[in-house]
Amino acid sequence: MSALAQERALGDWLAKGLRCIGQIAIQSGDDGGFVLRHREDRERTGLVVSQRADDAAELARFDDAGNYRPLKTAPTLRHGWKLRLANLAELRLALDLFYPGRLAMFAAFEKDELVTTPLRDTLGRQTGMYRIAAQIREDQTDELVGRFCASNGGCLRTIQWRRDAAGTVPSTQLPPDKFDPRHDQTGGAEPVVPLLCQEACNLLVAEARTVVQANR
Ligand code: SF4
Repeated sequence: MSALAQERALGDWLAKGLRCIGQIAIQSGDDGGFVLRHREDRERTGLVVSQRADDAAELARFDDAGNYRPLKTAPTLRHGWKLRLANLAELRLALDLFYPGRLAMFAAFEKDELVTTPLRDTLGRQTGMYRIAAQIREDQTDELVGRFCASNGGCLRTIQWRRDAAGTVPSTQLPPDKFDPRHDQTGGAEPVVPLLCQEACNLLVAEARTVVQANR
């Protein structure tokens, strides 16, 4: 999906009142611009101001403690910043740096064009050192996904994939809300642009491999 199509979709979501994405609040300015900040910083003063969409990449890189964030949808976005953006194009670019690929996924979902991949298929196509990840048992998969993907401490994405081609739920340990695109995965109750997960990420695959290795 083109950047322009994503931009149009984003404009529609804002017009419908979807003003949060993940841990970020989107505020419109009178000049056609936008201001982004951490949702928990909306009442806070003394935020460090940035002006370039590209700055989002740096803001997303480390958490409050300075640790690298390998999973950009983990609920660990740092606090203390404010990003001023001149227009919708800049807003799209910044959000795509905070949460790579997520605008395109939600736009595809809304058009009924989102393609998802069952976890077993994702594991089955691994090669090299990750090939053994496919050997993870069903009970272990249930536990792993329930722990690793949980919104509370794991990942804020809304899971759209199933565990296998038969449509098994990814984990019985996750609440039904974890699969509902309308649900605010941060625990708030605001209308959100959801962070959809269309297939298991590399980090979950790596963790499955670790579980299998521990079996041996
Ligand atoms: S598989 Fe999806 S929901 Fe789970 S941690 Fe990875 S990106 Fe998040």
